[in-house]
Amino acid sequence: MKVTRVQIVARGLTNRCPNCGERTLFKAGTLFEINRACPSCGLRIERDEGFFLGSLSLNYGVTLVCFLLPVLVLAYNKIIGTNTAIVLAGVGAILVPALLYRSSRSWWLMNYYFFLPLHLPANKPEPVAGDDENI
Ligand SMILES: [Zn+2]
Repeated sequence: MKVTRVQIVARGLTNRCPNCGERTLFKAGTLFEINRACPSCGLRIERDEGFFLGSLSLNYGVTLVCFLLPVLVLAYNKIIGTNTAIVLAGVGAILVPALLYRSSRSWWLMNYYFFLPLHLPANKPEPVAGDDENI
């Protein structure tokens, strides 16, 4: 296996292509427009509807656990007021997912290829000489 699971995680956390490691997940000059395929290695990035929904749920899950839950705990322990918590939760529920959008797309690709690393083109076995199926 040329691309290891450690490399897949490192590339996923730094928003890089899981196959070649280049910063090619998003179209140059855009914030939210994802490439259908990596311009460097040709890996299909936008695979199907499940990839969008998966990254969306991952995004909201991280927002819930890492932002909304701490706001709730702070309000529950009366460290911040209820009105402050409501405003923070309302604004954060929109702003945090927008800020995590790019990362969540990368995290979902990382998640997929972490469990199925042999689906990466770089990890496909070399065709064996004399094997007629690959011709
Ligand atoms: Zn690539």
